[in-house]
Amino acid sequence: MPAETQPPCHVFLVTFPGQGHMNPTLRLGKKLASKGLHITIATTLDFGHCLRNAGSIADQRYPFGDGFIDFHFWNDGWENDDLRRRDLDLYLPQLELTGKAALSQTLKDRAAENRPVSCLIGNPFVPWVCDVANEFGIPCSVLWVQSCSVFSVYYHFSRKTLNFPSESDPFCDVEIPSLPLLKHDEIPSFLHPYGEYKAIGRSILQQFRNVSVPFCILMDTFEELEKDVIDHMSTICSVIPIGPLFQTLKLSDEKGSLSGDFLKADDCFEWLDSKPEKSVVYISFGSIVHLSQTQVEEMAHALCNSGFSFLWVMKPLMKDMADCLGLKSHVLPDGFLEKAGERAKIVKWSPQQRVLFHPSIACFVTHCGWNSSVEALSTGVPMVVLPQWGDQVTNAKFLVEQFGVGLRLTRGVTEKRLVLRDEFEKCLRDAIVGPKAEELRENALKWKKAAEKAAAEGGSSETHIDELVGEIRKRSG
Ligand code: UDP
Repeated sequence: MPAETQPPCHVFLVTFPGQGHMNPTLRLGKKLASKGLHITIATTLDFGHCLRNAGSIADQRYPFGDGFIDFHFWNDGWENDDLRRRDLDLYLPQLELTGKAALSQTLKDRAAENRPVSCLIGNPFVPWVCDVANEFGIPCSVLWVQSCSVFSVYYHFSRKTLNFPSESDPFCDVEIPSLPLLKHDEIPSFLHPYGEYKAIGRSILQQFRNVSVPFCILMDTFEELEKDVIDHMSTICSVIPIGPLFQTLKLSDEKGSLSGDFLKADDCFEWLDSKPEKSVVYISFGSIVHLSQTQVEEMAHALCNSGFSFLWVMKPLMKDMADCLGLKSHVLPDGFLEKAGERAKIVKWSPQQRVLFHPSIACFVTHCGWNSSVEALSTGVPMVVLPQWGDQVTNAKFLVEQFGVGLRLTRGVTEKRLVLRDEFEKCLRDAIVGPKAEELRENALKWKKAAEKAAAEGGSSETHIDELVGEIRKRSG
């Protein structure tokens, strides 16, 4: 039956309330909507308030091509400023309890209204979405929001068949089929016996209880980027690379009124337009990382001394982060702004997707969150990497050693392991001028072209998305 004569197919995308989860979910939603599917994005009411306050969403329904996106927010049962949300050991069970109940009720309501949901797509941290789908006999898929390499590390860790760092052998190397040798501090830090935030690791591992429950596992990556590990994981479960989701959307979509930003982005384009091509350092550490005050000071001195122009995202410290983790807002060194003058642009939140496309950007100083990494790879922007935890450490290794698009900042040997200002300045210089910069730019351009090709009509990812839409239609009967 041709697509236009088929009954509408309704897909529910359920996401953990976090920026790094919402962005790829929304991008996938836009993509599927543009292919004629009816999409509902479900997350918590609390996160929905952030999106509305930031002006990211306003309407009930957003048309895309022949389909549309709407939102469903469920109440997680806690007050707006409840600090327990910062403790995943407490929050994830609450999310599961309330999310399962809300989702089940909605599925029943839709079925009663003769508007049944055809497919559920969850993501890491909400593994119960597959359980609900099973209960209702609805096909279920997962959007994995990190790299396929990291997926493979978690998978093999969960199976306990390979050697991983442990209390008795914390510094061993890890050998995983089709991946380069990973040193003990190159596996996602949540898996390390000395790593922080173990609850996150435990929650992610939940997703691996049974990887064959979802009919496929979608990944925001592309075949050309992670071929070997995609091939390897495909022998174990149905891994489908559909990225870069960022690239598959036309930029004009991103200028539209619908975004997943939980903070309002500051305008920086007049300033960027005034800068020469490839002259600006863009600095952003994603939505969660909060650097130490001393690290920020070292960076500020390096940026000032470097002579480069820079666009620096300094997120406001969320009240709950301050209350719960005792963090303090960053303070710039005395006289910093006067000294940097027109070279400095400090924003609270940037429209990063569009910033990275801007011709003035020379390099991106990043914590290597997977979204940021894929966005920079797709826009051909070289990176200076300073990973903090989780998958960032693994991504950093790949960006530097496998993809050849990043330079690593070396931490000092002092207790706080700071990157000192001289090291920072030298790295910026190496990433922007001279032979190393040339090499990074060449590699970055190569990946940009590969990303464009994967996302173009007939490209590997675009083809997979078309197949996915066909599969969802077929399974919805
Ligand atoms: N981002 C943004 N503006 C900013 C900083 C980040 O739009 O000022 C977006 C960025 O484009 C990315 C997401 O926030 O899509 C951050 O996700 P990532 O996986 O890189 O890091 P996380 O926040 O999960 O640590």
